[in-house]
Amino acid sequence: MAENIKTANYDALVIGAGIAGGEAALNLANNGFSVLLVEKDLSIGGKMILLSKVFPTLDCAACITTPKMSEISRHHGITIFTGSEVQKVVKKSENSFEAVVIKQPRYVVEDDCTACQLCEQACPVVVKDQYQYNLVGRKAAFIPFSIASPRVAAIDIENCTLCGACEKVCPTKCIDFTMEAEEYHITAGAVIVATGFRLFDPLKIPRYGYGQYKNVLTSMEMERQLAPTRPFNTVLRPGDGKVPDKIAYVLCTGSRDATVGNPICSQICCMYSIKQAQLLMGSLPMADVTIYYINIRSFGKGFEEFYEQAKGMGVNFIKGKIGKITEKENGNLILRYEDINENKLKESEHDMVVLSVGVLPNTDAAGIFREQKLEFDHLNFVGQKDPLASPAETNIKGVFVAGTASGPMDIPDSILSAGAASSEAMRYLIRK
Ligand SMILES: Cc1cc2nc3c(=O)[nH]c(=O)nc-3n(C[C@H](O)[C@H](O)[C@H](O)COP(=O)(O)OP(=O)(O)OC[C@H]3O[C@@H](n4cnc5c(N)ncnc54)[C@H](O)[C@@H]3O)c2cc1C
Ligand code: SF4
Ligand code: SF4
Repeated sequence: MAENIKTANYDALVIGAGIAGGEAALNLANNGFSVLLVEKDLSIGGKMILLSKVFPTLDCAACITTPKMSEISRHHGITIFTGSEVQKVVKKSENSFEAVVIKQPRYVVEDDCTACQLCEQACPVVVKDQYQYNLVGRKAAFIPFSIASPRVAAIDIENCTLCGACEKVCPTKCIDFTMEAEEYHITAGAVIVATGFRLFDPLKIPRYGYGQYKNVLTSMEMERQLAPTRPFNTVLRPGDGKVPDKIAYVLCTGSRDATVGNPICSQICCMYSIKQAQLLMGSLPMADVTIYYINIRSFGKGFEEFYEQAKGMGVNFIKGKIGKITEKENGNLILRYEDINENKLKESEHDMVVLSVGVLPNTDAAGIFREQKLEFDHLNFVGQKDPLASPAETNIKGVFVAGTASGPMDIPDSILSAGAASSEAMRYLIRK
């Protein structure tokens, strides 16, 4: 690879192109700074681009995200690398960082792909579709999802059999199996870490039966079933394809639970569950939806009204802690829980259960910063130098943090945090 090393110079390097990284890059570029936005996935947009609607307004998530992502993609001040990772960042002096970025091969020449999907149709290999959270399949030659940015095919080389069917049908001959990883040596004046969050893995609570009982889903799987770009035309039980009519939500799955290593509140699960419950009542008007909660934390603007609205629509709220979930022969699920108000153990039957999984830190940034290490807080989120007075500053001067990389937060707070990080970065850059 060494002889193919490319070099480039930017004012700022933004790591992670979710809503926080995208917003930070856009703010910087709109103020005349050049930005390299590095995203490890095949599309920018992070988790937000895959959501259904957003609380508490029920605006369509895709309708907000796609114009923003297209503005980011078209901005002359922003260079985007998808399918890429920052291998290391070293601070050389004030306002000068050196970074090594590896761009993985997509095996499709991005500029020539017309997204006609003929390769997808011709490819004989079917694997689980990670963008639909494994609810359906996709081909080894695939466009990540319909509103992906860039909307360009990629070849999943791990599963590809090199049969050549895609190459034969591609009208622009843009599939190229000789592509190799590219190494870039970048210099930048400031860095923004916007690497987002991970979702709690419900396999860590075996008594809830995720992975064992097919009709136990995560909230992200339900989010995909409710999104406009959803895999089916309605909400279906994965076990047998039946339309469910008695759905339960288990709040705080992997949050506020020291036994699974995550003692904190994830801040978003109450509200996204209340949102999904309202959307379910809309799309399945005959269905019963019950939310089992410890406390409902509707702390934000418009959140308490949103909670009241759900109650008004007929969503059941039970203050109950779920002990165990078991499966009946017909795929229905028995929830054993402690009714906290009545102080009694009870059981109830539902035909689908959604686990409202919590927010965990993404520790990707830990290995990136060499020589001067980036500090993390006691929960492994990126450490904020002063969470009250300057929440975007980290322990390294010139490195800022945006969005959920520093802790759980919703979309409006991620955007505000990106605003703070980009303003601090601009202030740092013009101090040269
Ligand atoms: C089920 C569910 C429903 C939700 N519903 C709502 C809602 O209705 N309203 C609301 O306000 N919020 C909602 N949220 C929360 C919302 O998703 C987050 O607030 C938002 O996505 C945070 O954006 P972010 O950019 O900080 O992180 P992310 O969306 O996680 O984006 C981070 C990006 O960084 C990339 N990345 C990570 N590591 C690297 C690396 N090493 N190199 C390069 N790139 C990297 C990732 O691939 C990703 O694209 C919901 C969350 C869930 C799970
Ligand atoms: S070469 Fe690979 S990606 Fe192309 S059609 Fe064959 S299996 Fe699919
Ligand atoms: S057939 Fe070629 S142009 Fe069409 S989507 Fe596939 S790679 Fe792109």
